[in-house]
Amino acid sequence: AYDVTERRQAEYERAQLLEREQQARRAAQDAVDIRDAFLSIAAHELKNPLTTLLGNAQLLRRRADRAGTYAERDVRIFSSIAEQATRMNQLIAALLDSSRLETGQLHIVPAPLDLVALVQRVLDELVSTLEQHHLSWQAPAQQIVISGDELRLTQVLQNLLGNAIKYSPQGGTITVQAGQDAATGWVAIRDQGLGIPAEAIPQLFRRFFRAENVTQQRISGIGVGLYVVHEIVTLHGGRVEVESQEGRGSTFTVRLPLAQADAAARFSP
Ligand code: ADP
Repeated sequence: AYDVTERRQAEYERAQLLEREQQARRAAQDAVDIRDAFLSIAAHELKNPLTTLLGNAQLLRRRADRAGTYAERDVRIFSSIAEQATRMNQLIAALLDSSRLETGQLHIVPAPLDLVALVQRVLDELVSTLEQHHLSWQAPAQQIVISGDELRLTQVLQNLLGNAIKYSPQGGTITVQAGQDAATGWVAIRDQGLGIPAEAIPQLFRRFFRAENVTQQRISGIGVGLYVVHEIVTLHGGRVEVESQEGRGSTFTVRLPLAQADAAARFSP
């Protein structure tokens, strides 16, 4: 009889433990859902006023440039407002994209696209941000015609290059290479920065994840960029690879399916 009581007691305790674990999991999921809902509402609500603010700041800056009646300091202030509003806009866009991806509402429209020209365009747009780094762009002579959504892939490259810049020291070299093999076109972006701790690598593409070595240094960020990169590339039927050594640097490689031969043949940029 003693044995039976003891067994029942053990079973009861196991059941209780299980119940508590389930409760904790439900609570954690609820917390994530609430955070998502909140972020999505906040991002939507911030978008319109910010667009107005940005438009007005740009208008003032242009007017100041033209009239030449403003003090140079005022022109700098207008520019700074416009820059900060642009950054906020990008953050909000990233949050909105991440919630669209989460709910399957972000669609890609693939078409034949030269990956080399795309990388070149993104690099051209980033020149001023890249001023503090050395850039080594190893572009192949021939086109690499992939099947992709130009707008979304631009975003992918901007995010990866933005990270390479943000997480590596001034004066460091950022190496960008493109190439192709049998079925894929690829772009690799290598930096000589902080690197990623080995234990963080499996979590890197989770939404809101940030590794400890960057949060400790208080480098700002919200941890949605790589999630968006990974989801967009996956929607293309491609993949993202990471190689990194903490303290030495990181390489992110994006692989995308080549366009079908007939589509590629018809392609002209
Ligand atoms: P954020 O940069 O806003 O934190 P991301 O989603 O772009 O968000 O990146 C997630 C995390 O991955 C970063 O917080 C950082 O820990 C790590 N990471 C991404 N790119 C790099 C890089 N080039 N070098 C070092 N760490 C990186």
